[in-house]
Amino acid sequence: MDESVRGTLEFAGVQLAAVVAGLHLYWAIPRLVTAARIDQPIYWDPRPLLFILSGIGILVGLVLVRKQLLSRIRAYSLGIGLMLTYLLGWAYWHLGGHMAVLPWVDDGHGHAHDGNPVVVLAEGGNSLVAEGADLKDASPREDVAVAVKEVIEFPGDGNEIEDRFRLTDDSGVSYHYFGEGAVGDAFGGAFIYTNDKTVSIGLAYRIEDAVTSQPKPEQTLNEFKSHPAVAPLVRGGRTVEYTAKTIPEGGADAMPDLVHDGAVLVGDTAGLVLNNGVHLEGTNMAVESGYHAGNAIISAIANGRTDANALLEYPRNLEESFVVQNLERYEWLMETAVEDKDLLFRDLPRAIADASEEYFSIDRDPKAEHADDAKDRILQTIGGWSGAAKLAWRYRKVMTS
Ligand SMILES: Cc1cc2nc3c(=O)[nH]c(=O)nc-3n(C[C@H](O)[C@H](O)[C@H](O)COP(=O)(O)OP(=O)(O)OC[C@H]3O[C@@H](n4cnc5c(N)ncnc54)[C@H](O)[C@@H]3O)c2cc1C
Repeated sequence: MDESVRGTLEFAGVQLAAVVAGLHLYWAIPRLVTAARIDQPIYWDPRPLLFILSGIGILVGLVLVRKQLLSRIRAYSLGIGLMLTYLLGWAYWHLGGHMAVLPWVDDGHGHAHDGNPVVVLAEGGNSLVAEGADLKDASPREDVAVAVKEVIEFPGDGNEIEDRFRLTDDSGVSYHYFGEGAVGDAFGGAFIYTNDKTVSIGLAYRIEDAVTSQPKPEQTLNEFKSHPAVAPLVRGGRTVEYTAKTIPEGGADAMPDLVHDGAVLVGDTAGLVLNNGVHLEGTNMAVESGYHAGNAIISAIANGRTDANALLEYPRNLEESFVVQNLERYEWLMETAVEDKDLLFRDLPRAIADASEEYFSIDRDPKAEHADDAKDRILQTIGGWSGAAKLAWRYRKVMTS
């Protein structure tokens, strides 16, 4: 072969080999970093590691040839061998359905890179799609509350809400109610809060109570609206919106599996709500779960995968976030409060009301006597000073870590 043609071909060959090495390294390095970050076993997708090794091998080979430590003929043979390996590897991987390199390891992570979708199930607490697809069990009644809410508008001069709720400027207000006047015998509570131009009024209680003892939620809400402490706040208003919704209350223990092959569960569908009488949060948790789920999906797709194992980054990050930490913090509270329901929502409020009446009575008896009687009325209800100490100990975690 003519020496100049040979030189040109060699030059082109070296350039081509360097480009092949560069492209493989460019593709593989970020993927290997991601795989390491989410602890993905290397045999699920060995391409990043193999591409990096072969890319480095090509570059080292070029240097060795240049330094005359490797003969040209041997370098050509190795190059042809590597090219064939790439071709065979490509065929095995892409035509073989992306199964594991260790075919005897059956962990169900075969996948394809032709756009397998990931479905984000964000359908709220009443998760008919997730349950229908066997991605989640139907929640037991004691883990679910039913909520109804009306949005009320008032005719008038535009200051109706400010006047009724004694507000100024842009301020708003939220009232929470517990006990008989709010939800009868049920375990739950009611609320009223102001919006810009409307007022929301509603209540939530265990669906168990709705099914067994309590009147239907809409009837309970009507009764709450006619309570003398509430009626003046909503009188004359027009209901412009009516909502009914379930609230998952099972806490961290009741969370379903969050990732499945091609699907993730977020927000209320994943049971991420803190509704325990102390806090009512769910929107923030839904947003946080969506954020972590989205990131996990991006990582998984970057690796050409959409199976459950590839999406594990989502539950891992959620576990470390405030969402699961807060759910776990209050895991004990619902159960304890249900056990103490009569004391907390009936007997103690009554005792406090009676004690207040006693304390503020005006008659010929000295104040010290009224104060003693008021204190006795409360102590009687909670089992004396030792009962008070037990109660404080029982609920200490509301205030401590
Ligand atoms: C009365 C009440 C008061 C609350 N107050 C607070 C509060 O003060 N602060 C707070 O942080 N959280 C509060 N929450 C909780 C909060 O509303 C939820 O945690 C939050 O809305 C959950 O968001 P999500 O997107 O997971 O579900 P959702 O908001 O329930 O959204 C799910 C959506 O999916 C739709 N959907 C369902 N099935 C399908 C389907 N098959 N196809 C298409 N669409 C479907 C539904 O119509 C709905 O629009 C309250 C909840 C209730 C019931």
